[in-house]
Amino acid sequence: MLIDFHTHIFPEKLAERSIAALTAGIRREQGDDYGSGKPLTFCLPTQQGLLELMERSGVDRSICLPIATKPSQDESINRFAENIRGPKLYSFGTVHPADPQWEQLLESLAERGFRGIKLHPEFQLSDIDSPESLRILKKCAALGLLVIFHAGIDIGLPPSYRATPEKIAHVLTETEGSNLIAAHLGGWSQWDDVERYLVGTPILFDTAFIRDFIDPEQCLRIIRTHGAEKIVFGSDAPWEDPADTLSFLQSLHLTADEIAKITYQNAQRLLGETAKS
Ligand SMILES: [Zn+2]
Repeated sequence: MLIDFHTHIFPEKLAERSIAALTAGIRREQGDDYGSGKPLTFCLPTQQGLLELMERSGVDRSICLPIATKPSQDESINRFAENIRGPKLYSFGTVHPADPQWEQLLESLAERGFRGIKLHPEFQLSDIDSPESLRILKKCAALGLLVIFHAGIDIGLPPSYRATPEKIAHVLTETEGSNLIAAHLGGWSQWDDVERYLVGTPILFDTAFIRDFIDPEQCLRIIRTHGAEKIVFGSDAPWEDPADTLSFLQSLHLTADEIAKITYQNAQRLLGETAKS
């Protein structure tokens, strides 16, 4: 069983345009020769495109993480997300931190059966420890909703660093954190600070889009010190092939028990599908 907790899809009519804009951002930030001729995406990020990638890569289920970049997008994205609830695909919801209806919206998402939301502090221009983000994180904890959020540097955006490990540590002084998942192993390309501020706290990390960037020894050390029960498999598809994410994790020489936790057991626990153990 392989559950990918970090993927992105768009409605058909927006997929190509969205990917073109995001790819342009990466080229702008990283230079035109970034990736040295390799593809930047591994599927068209639509339901069909992701299902085909999952089939090729041996992924059984994927969690899709939509992001509203304006408050006015919240409801239409959540309607799209609500229809992605099949045996293979399941979507989280979205709430823009500046949405004046944020509280009712979170209550409605919980009632409509959403297991969680995605925040992206860089795209939503709201630091993870700002009052606007914190009230959402606390409300989600009260409602039993998970929150997965981009952490660390974003490869396609200029620096602003709104969810650094240090800022995430501020959050953990205000809310307990066991319903929070900091993407990219706690902070993309800020893994020394992940070790300084976050390792050993209740927050979870995903493994999305780190394999080409992290020192494998440091990756293994973070997983082991933080605890494999707080690491969830995520690829960031379409930006990474889940088969590559898996082969990277396997190359770290984790135990079979650790791999099982990371690749599906923790995800099942988070989704409320198994008893807590
Ligand atoms: Zn992502």
